[in-house]
Amino acid sequence: MTRIFYFLIICLIISCGRNGTNSGNKIITVSIAPFKYFVEEIAGNDFTVNIMVPAGADPHTYEPFPDQIIKLRKSVAYISNGYLGFEMNWLGRFYETNQTMKRLSLGDKIDLLATQPDHPGGHIEGADPHYWVSPKCALVIANSVRGLLFELNPSQRQKYESNYQLLISKIQEVDNKARKSFSDVPIKCFMIYHPNLAYVARDYGLEEIAVEFEGKEPTPSRMRELIDRARKDNLKTIFVQMEYDTKNAKAIAGEIGAEIVLIDPLSENWQKSTSDIIDALHKSLLNSLK
Ligand SMILES: [Zn+2]
Repeated sequence: MTRIFYFLIICLIISCGRNGTNSGNKIITVSIAPFKYFVEEIAGNDFTVNIMVPAGADPHTYEPFPDQIIKLRKSVAYISNGYLGFEMNWLGRFYETNQTMKRLSLGDKIDLLATQPDHPGGHIEGADPHYWVSPKCALVIANSVRGLLFELNPSQRQKYESNYQLLISKIQEVDNKARKSFSDVPIKCFMIYHPNLAYVARDYGLEEIAVEFEGKEPTPSRMRELIDRARKDNLKTIFVQMEYDTKNAKAIAGEIGAEIVLIDPLSENWQKSTSDIIDALHKSLLNSLK
């Protein structure tokens, strides 16, 4: 609380001193790095994108840096997820800091999945926030971002529309790959530490088995269940998101002879990280057949 107040004072001083200079691009602030991808694919370099929680940052202990607050104050729009826990703590303050920026909550147009009330990663109860990892949801995100960019910069509408069409075909490529990869494998389940692939599972007919349980590390009896399940379905992989501790995942992996595979759903390069996740999932399903 006091820290943010201190930031705001600093920001005020800095922004007064800098008025008129370095006017450059307009700024759009986004909650997480993957949203930057959608803005830049459609708008090119027309905006500078300010990411609040960059890849690798822990949303539990998240605090904005002064530089992020300076950019937030100058932003013309804010793109939020709508269901990430850090937004519950900070979004109100961000909106107070800059009352004129447009607000886009990408979760509004998504067909959401319910989540457990005390889901980890500091998520707001009610909905699973990880929708951006599914190509099907990415199509909806692209559409929402296009709408915002039209509003912010109507004179570039044509350019944005044709970039949007290109983006859609890129996302559809990933979607096609997912459908092909997952339709021809008889085993459909995979194990993951933090359950961030629930939308991918829903949209492509897979089953996500989470090591984390109700946002907490698994109890010994839950660990035993997971190990039994992994043995039963011959699971050879446990997926772990880069930002998370792998201790329990390693314990299960050691027990069943599985490998830990890191995935990066918070990457700035949505297309690459999602494509990599689909390849890794496909490989894990194939390994279960051996
Ligand atoms: Zn999460």
